[in-house]
Amino acid sequence: MGDRLKLGISACLLGERVRYNGGHKRSALCTEVLTEHFELVPVCPEVAIGLGTPRPAIRLVGDADAPRALVPQEHGRDLTAELRDQGARVARELDDISGFVLMHKSPSCGLHRVKLYRDNGHLAEATTRGVFAASLHQQRPELPLEDEGRLHDPVLRENFLNRVFVYGRWQRLLAGGLSQQGLLDFHARHKYLLMATHPQQQKALGRLLSNLANQNLVDLAPLYFRQLMAALSRPATRGTHSNVLQHLSGHLKQHLGDAERTELQRLIEQYRTGVIPLVVPLTLLRHHFNRHPDAYVANQDYLQPYPDDLSLRNAI
Ligand code: SF4
Repeated sequence: MGDRLKLGISACLLGERVRYNGGHKRSALCTEVLTEHFELVPVCPEVAIGLGTPRPAIRLVGDADAPRALVPQEHGRDLTAELRDQGARVARELDDISGFVLMHKSPSCGLHRVKLYRDNGHLAEATTRGVFAASLHQQRPELPLEDEGRLHDPVLRENFLNRVFVYGRWQRLLAGGLSQQGLLDFHARHKYLLMATHPQQQKALGRLLSNLANQNLVDLAPLYFRQLMAALSRPATRGTHSNVLQHLSGHLKQHLGDAERTELQRLIEQYRTGVIPLVVPLTLLRHHFNRHPDAYVANQDYLQPYPDDLSLRNAI
């Protein structure tokens, strides 16, 4: 792997004119922010199965759990199997991507709330997910996926990119050769990130690894990672982040004077109650840990899980 992590992306989000109507859906977030930090790998599953541009639109019809991708203007031509195969192909061939940004509401790429039609042509009440996106998720359930539309929500954006960086660290761990100690270190460095998203699962995963010497690493590691990624997909709240900030502040107890402790507690409380963003108490904590290094905290990814200039914690 190179220095920058790779993200798959629906090609129309990069401004490629591959949509059914000959247009694109260029996303400023993807082309101006994500390109600074990631290598983006464009994929258009509809073009990949040989459809031209422009082309008749696809519709999802039938069961929300297994919709068929049909082309009403071509007598209901069924493209389900081909789009599903594209999901499997991308999952297999792009094995070095650490996440995928998908075009929302697309019958191929959409991940959430894609329109579904009944066999009689009427809109169904239920919604579904695009056939390509569903297949990709089925093949690589741990791979972070997100709709571009949802990335405009700061909490969901932070959650997705956090998972992308964790996934990237896991890929690097595997590339370097997995060992018992490597797995334990990996878990240890993510303790506070897990505590911020799913405190119960943080403990459960610790128990899963507690008897590592007597377990088969090859079987246990994928099980661990699947559960870790599922836990991290739950967005952190101001309450859970505040809990982590308190744990971190506990490591400074011996080093801070009364005034510094009071100021730190005031900022954590202001963050908890929604007055200031997470970056404010975190910046003060980082300042204190620079002056009073703590080996345990220095090994945690929580204080800096991704590059600061992504500015993800300024908005949550
Ligand atoms: S949403 Fe997906 S299938 Fe549709 S044009 Fe964009 S990349 Fe292609």
